[in-house]
Amino acid sequence: GFIWFDGKLVPWREATVHGLTHSLHYGLGCFEGERAYATERGAAIFRLPEHTKRLFNSAKILQMDVSFTPEEINEATKEVIRANGLESAYIRPLFFYGAEGMGLAAKGLKVHALIAAWPWGSYLGQEALERGIRVKVSSFSRHHVNIHLCKAKASGNYMNSMLAHREAHNGGYDEALLLDREGYVAEGSGENVFMVRDGILYTPTLTSALEGITRDTILRFASDAGIPIIEKQLTRDEFYIADEAFFTGTAAEVTPIREIDDRKIGNGRRGPITEALQSRYFDTVAGRRND
Ligand code: PLP
Repeated sequence: GFIWFDGKLVPWREATVHGLTHSLHYGLGCFEGERAYATERGAAIFRLPEHTKRLFNSAKILQMDVSFTPEEINEATKEVIRANGLESAYIRPLFFYGAEGMGLAAKGLKVHALIAAWPWGSYLGQEALERGIRVKVSSFSRHHVNIHLCKAKASGNYMNSMLAHREAHNGGYDEALLLDREGYVAEGSGENVFMVRDGILYTPTLTSALEGITRDTILRFASDAGIPIIEKQLTRDEFYIADEAFFTGTAAEVTPIREIDDRKIGNGRRGPITEALQSRYFDTVAGRRND
């Protein structure tokens, strides 16, 4: 296969970096997670312009000067799918500082760009999409810096996510639920979170969660379907007594949550509103619905 690297398609095995790559040492870089789905008209990347926009917003927050335009990145993303003959794929664009210099100033360092794509099934397992997953509130909070920096999908932000995900796995759970510094529910390690109670759809405000593109899609679907939506700070016990809960994300798609901290959510199965939103999501990404 091929990876797009600084403007050229290079063979997969040649898309390597030096051991002194700046972003490898300090963790400053930004990335995206996108999916292409098989549709009647071939592979279609779901909401590509929005993902590219968020990637450039992340770079702006981190003050990384990217030498490519969003249009070039959009084109390159499609090229990666074509060149690899992929029908469906997970896509990973990345901006990072190379090995041209060290030190925190990172002055004048070149921002490198790469885009890779590969076939990837459902992130939390096919069974998870139907049965739902078991989740544990994490001992790691969403922010490891004392400022709200959640608009950037930045590699330096994922230490907590990784520690939280591992902690949940080591404890026998499928995924972690991270709280913000005040103790309100923020999001999963790589997913936004929703709950349903008495027919109302709730999701945390975006003060401590990534502006998920799947989250936005689900909010649009719910609004179309006339489901009332409330965005507010939510506590973990509100989730404990919810009728339904689910995660959203490009990787996790729409994954029902059947248990949080060993408490069954609703009847412990995928709830009706979750199922309706999930099925509309899969119809839309596969091009069976035009929205
Ligand atoms: N929250 C975090 C921390 C993420 O890394 C992701 C991943 O993409 C999401 C939420 C979901 O965002 P999206 O739906 O745009 O993929």
